[in-house]
Amino acid sequence: MTEYEITVDMELCDGIFACLVRDGRFEESADGLVTLPGGRREDGTLRATFEDDRLSDAEDAAAACPTDAITVEVKGE
Ligand code: SF4
Repeated sequence: MTEYEITVDMELCDGIFACLVRDGRFEESADGLVTLPGGRREDGTLRATFEDDRLSDAEDAAAACPTDAITVEVKGE
């Protein structure tokens, strides 16, 4: 299990949704941009913390995002 935080810069998110194909936790929100389960949106940034074995899915989503809006930061092992 790895603890990590996914951050999405909502200024960069363009609603292209390459991320959802790589990681099903990414979903379209009511405003047509992306959201995450347990995600907190403030100051133009969406943040969500997870502790599971799906770090590589999140990293695949980040790599697929054409605007580089997604950052994945490992907090601990
Ligand atoms: S792939 Fe990037 S730009 Fe597209 S919805 Fe996901 S976070 Fe937003």
